[in-house]
Amino acid sequence: RGGPKNLPIAEVLVDDDDCPENSKQKHKPKLVLLGSGWGSVAILKTLNPEDYHVTVVSPVNYFLFTPMLPSATVGTLELRSLVEPIRRIVSRAKGHFLKAEAVDVELSEKLLEVAQTNAQGEECHFYLPYDKLVLGVGATTNPHGVKGLENCHFLKDIEDARLIRNKVMQNLEQACMPTTSDEERRRLLSFVVSGGGPTGVEFAAELFDMLNEDLGRSFPKILRNEISVHVIQSRGHILNTYDEALSKFAEARFAHDQVEVLTNSRVKEVQKDKILFSQKDEKGETVTKELPMGFCLWSTGVAQTELCKRIADKIDVQTNKHALETDTHLRLNGAPLGSVYAIGDCSTVQNNVADHLVHFLRSMAWEKGKDPEKMEITFPEWRDVAQRVKKRFPQAADHLRRLDKLFEQYDKDQKGTLDFGELHELLLQIDSKITSLPATAQRAHQQGQYLGRKLNKLAQAAPGMMVNEVDYGDLDEAVYKAFEYHHLGSLAYIGNSAVFDFNGLSFSGGLMAVYLWRSVYFAQSVSLRTRMLLAMDWSKRALFGRDMMN
Ligand code: FAD
Ligand code: MG
Ligand code: MG
Ligand code: MG
Ligand code: MG
Repeated sequence: RGGPKNLPIAEVLVDDDDCPENSKQKHKPKLVLLGSGWGSVAILKTLNPEDYHVTVVSPVNYFLFTPMLPSATVGTLELRSLVEPIRRIVSRAKGHFLKAEAVDVELSEKLLEVAQTNAQGEECHFYLPYDKLVLGVGATTNPHGVKGLENCHFLKDIEDARLIRNKVMQNLEQACMPTTSDEERRRLLSFVVSGGGPTGVEFAAELFDMLNEDLGRSFPKILRNEISVHVIQSRGHILNTYDEALSKFAEARFAHDQVEVLTNSRVKEVQKDKILFSQKDEKGETVTKELPMGFCLWSTGVAQTELCKRIADKIDVQTNKHALETDTHLRLNGAPLGSVYAIGDCSTVQNNVADHLVHFLRSMAWEKGKDPEKMEITFPEWRDVAQRVKKRFPQAADHLRRLDKLFEQYDKDQKGTLDFGELHELLLQIDSKITSLPATAQRAHQQGQYLGRKLNKLAQAAPGMMVNEVDYGDLDEAVYKAFEYHHLGSLAYIGNSAVFDFNGLSFSGGLMAVYLWRSVYFAQSVSLRTRMLLAMDWSKRALFGRDMMN
């Protein structure tokens, strides 16, 4: 026992002497990874198995292939195909796994507080000592302070997908009952998605496809005419973090498919059988409306987990309300140097967007052989700059929509050009609006891979590093470069077609393209087993349609 709370300290794990390999690992530096999601799995797949005593702590014992989750809600894919047992991945890295939840960290003692429910149903806490701790705990659903979310479904985990599938089927079955009135039937068949980001849009598209392709085969045809799908979006466009062409494509596609998109709308309250929202009309006036519904998906972005909030509270310099801040070496700001890292959705890198932007401007001036301070940028050149900014900071796309308007607004002297000062002002304004990195699997994967490689280098550089001996913190900079994010493009699935946003290039392709793209793009995270299961699911669906049952 020990530590500030005098809890048992888990110096030894059950399987530490399981086999000669484990015994050999026992005295290696302790590396603890929190979470079994994209970030942690990328580390496990990159790490040299011999260098650390690795322990993964996560309340779930599987890795979930989230990009395909919307497909599982309507039976396009089987739920099992999207998960992979984490123990299999952990043991390949010669690590240990504890199915438990991390609840707190004692930063100076390097003790992780872990909670687990024992066989008697009691919650037990213990400390797990670490030399290096990696926070990869992801994020939770953002309630935005809206009332009645207990009447909504969410889409974060495999269990959520199962519940959605059951609910959709249940509504369809109930709609067929002779005792169901016409009005009640229309309500049961009114599906609402709150949130026009990729998850909401993909779910709406999958649902629409299922209703179109398979409903008629198994259910009375009359249902088709009574079904409605609605997407409620607070911004002016859906997929607003994507390229404008893509969000237009998605909107056109939905209009064609009769998926109703309600933009500039905010949900006020979700009741059992209806949803209340306010909508800004053309004149900018707000009107309150209601929509009867039989199903509501809440997918309006992410918020910090309890653990991350607790950690942020302990550290003065952690003031960001959305994520834990790290330096460019992914070390948690304010924690003892080199002992705690944060990756993926729970984190954000302080990367000084403004500096990058100034760099853009300077290099542009340099290319033109001009003095940056004396440069006058014309509208076509500004379009070029905007393109570059979008490429480097895809999250900025939403703020770079009305290029002509921005140009006019910041051309203070109205010369028809932007000088250095004006352009800098404009870019600073955009900088203040964007968060530094997107919350995507792509990013978590890259950060995990980066950290895995760095941990390998660190182990080589300081093979004997042991508990509390020396502070190896600044070794990070000596052995490896800073993290740099490479945006590989975004992709969303919209009703039998995919839209890509690939470094400013956008295009749309068939359904197969989605799956192909995704399997290439995540090749290292997805095992052969998962790929085979996915291929079987798709073939089955192509041949027989989806199974219309719970
Ligand atoms: P996660 O993958 O969420 O993993 C977090 C892990 O931490 C989980 O295992 C969780 O159980 C565990 N955990 C939580 N709390 C604790 C705790 N206290 N102690 C220990 N463990 C804990 N991204 C894309 O790039 N492309 C897509 O197409 C895409 N589609 C998506 C579709 C859906 C439906 C969803 C929900 C997300 C999608 N994303 C997509 C986003 C992507 O899934 C996330 O950005 C990614 O999962 C982040 O990885 P992570 O490792 O940070 O967190
Ligand atoms: Mg993770
Ligand atoms: Mg995950
Ligand atoms: Mg703080
Ligand atoms: Mg000017």
